[in-house]
Amino acid sequence: MIVKLAGASEAQIQTVCDRITQEPGLTPHIERGVALTVIAVIGNVNGRCQILLDQLQSMPGVTEVQRIGKPYQLAALKDDRLRTVVDVGNGVRIGNGEPLAIVAGPCSIESEVQLRTIAQAVRAAGGTILRGGAYKPRTAPRCFEGLGEDGLKMLRDIGVELDMPTQTEVMRPDLVELVAEHASILQVGARNMQNFDLLKAVGDVRKPVVLKRGLAATIDDLLCAAEHILDRGNPNVILCERGIKTFEDHTRNTATIASIPAIHGLSHLPVMFDPSHGVGKRQWIPDVAIAGVAAGADSLHLEVHHQPEKALSDGPQSLLPDQFALLVQQMRIIEEARNQCLALHM
Ligand code: PEP
Ligand code: MN
Repeated sequence: MIVKLAGASEAQIQTVCDRITQEPGLTPHIERGVALTVIAVIGNVNGRCQILLDQLQSMPGVTEVQRIGKPYQLAALKDDRLRTVVDVGNGVRIGNGEPLAIVAGPCSIESEVQLRTIAQAVRAAGGTILRGGAYKPRTAPRCFEGLGEDGLKMLRDIGVELDMPTQTEVMRPDLVELVAEHASILQVGARNMQNFDLLKAVGDVRKPVVLKRGLAATIDDLLCAAEHILDRGNPNVILCERGIKTFEDHTRNTATIASIPAIHGLSHLPVMFDPSHGVGKRQWIPDVAIAGVAAGADSLHLEVHHQPEKALSDGPQSLLPDQFALLVQQMRIIEEARNQCLALHM
């Protein structure tokens, strides 16, 4: 880190240096200017960086403390050739140039017939992972909150029937074990991105986790949240861009396409892109999905419903099966074109 002092006395500079050398492994390097003294601090303080940073900030004479290293050491990209590939089962792998994984299914699991009808359409169209919510976070009360354990069993059985890995949301730490028993991938929803007890609980299992970016979270916030999971020993984290709140008035959220290459530049973790929640309107989702593939998403996440007018959640953003089937073909063309573009760099 860099510590800046303005108009500080020798005694104040010395006190700051003494505080730095109290940390094993840290040495201050002092640079004296006319008005400003800068102390560079290099070394590893194993998790005590934030404490030291906050304490130095409050010391007399100190005007600014800048952190140079990132707080997400485990999630950070170290070498472009060392990117995480998450194996989600049934032969599907996500990240580092593996074929685009297409996660699709209804927002909520509503019945066995509903899920099977949609799942068969998703599989026939080339979808690779079946999604469906059994536990649904709802902004307003008195809305459909999912079928719970019954829904989980339907998802598991239909996943087995169709030989597809499955993804579903887990909302509470005490449900992690149950959801992990039934689903291939645990989804941490946008509203729970900073539920730290939940992050630790999904970090304690070894199932793949799709971590959705919070509605008001920055990319660094998302990477710090991922760090909590990685820190507990679960390396199987996929980051999901699902749109954030801005001042858009015609789309449900702002689909953060630029964040896909940005995250790839910062982290080795695979990126999933969810235009369904990002856009919120069926007719605009395909174009944005294609843009996400072109921007380098490792996986696409789409809501599909055969009767969206009867859906119990997110009907307006659910693609019809035919629309989904066409979009899968289009995305495969873009994936191929992107691979050709990448080959030009080599
Ligand atoms: C969902 O995937 O249906 C969902 C609730 O997503 P998010 O957490 O991104 O709102
Ligand atoms: Mn939804």
